[in-house]
Amino acid sequence: MSAPLLEVQNLKLYYPVKVRKNALFSEKGFVKAVDDISFTVNQGETFGLVGESGCGKSTTGKTIVKLLRPTEGHILFEGKDIFAPENKADLTTRIQIIFQDPYSSLDPRFTVGRCIAEPMVVHKIGTPKEREERVRQLMADVGLRPEHYTKYPHEFSGGQRQRIGVARALALNPSLIVCDEPVSALDVSIQAQILNLMQDLQAKYSLTYIFISHNLSVVKHLCDRIAVMYLGNIVEIAGKNDLFDHPSHPYTNALLDAIPVPDPEIPTMQEMLEGDVPSPMNPPAGCCFHTRCKKACERCSREKPALREIAPGHQVACHLAE
Ligand code: SF4
Repeated sequence: MSAPLLEVQNLKLYYPVKVRKNALFSEKGFVKAVDDISFTVNQGETFGLVGESGCGKSTTGKTIVKLLRPTEGHILFEGKDIFAPENKADLTTRIQIIFQDPYSSLDPRFTVGRCIAEPMVVHKIGTPKEREERVRQLMADVGLRPEHYTKYPHEFSGGQRQRIGVARALALNPSLIVCDEPVSALDVSIQAQILNLMQDLQAKYSLTYIFISHNLSVVKHLCDRIAVMYLGNIVEIAGKNDLFDHPSHPYTNALLDAIPVPDPEIPTMQEMLEGDVPSPMNPPAGCCFHTRCKKACERCSREKPALREIAPGHQVACHLAE
């Protein structure tokens, strides 16, 4: 088997915060947004990252595109550390991102042509004429009309703005695109169009995607392998079919049971979660899920379960998984 395109090794990202002790004193604390996660992404696949809001999936994605710097750990792209200064020029253009919000991720002062050309301008790629040709080609690829070139973002609907965001992500001809909830801000009727467009572009440009979402139906439709995150940890990684047919972590089971089923005869929510996610400033000892897990035993509150393989390609962080 060929080497993975991306390797995330023991990644930690802690945000420093001040915790007030009393009227006079405060001490330094940390929000543990991502707490020692490792995974690989293979060339050409769509790798899903799922979990509740605040589980660390977007922080992971932003670290992979170097918008955030890790506290510890390494991210290797084609075997090279993306944060090593000697790899900066080589790797920065190879990994791009599609943001969640197509309204705030485009500069309202730029025309569509300038929005899409901006990465090439920043990286000093091509002449103005070459950039315009590339932008017009990308606009055609994402379904925008030639006359849109001189229009401004406010003149477009959410779906069209996300097409501009997709074109901008493609401008530097990347190998890997981090898709950070790219359809969750769109109407349901538009979501399918954007997802189909992303699949067409993946085939056309041999792209690899990391697809971040809290919508398991979308992830099931799009992804080859999926990692489930909870409180900054990865609790399960498996191929799509394995994960949906044989979920092995109690949290994954609860997430799958929460998917709405459009049939009142079918019982749902059998494993409905109770309680809130603990604070990432003060995560529980042992298994990060033990405060909400119905199967928790004494060992779970004292010993953190390692992510271990229970079947080929299927890893679970639970003492009871087999
Ligand atoms: Fe639940 Fe224990 Fe497994 Fe954690 S290790 S998921 S608390 S059974």
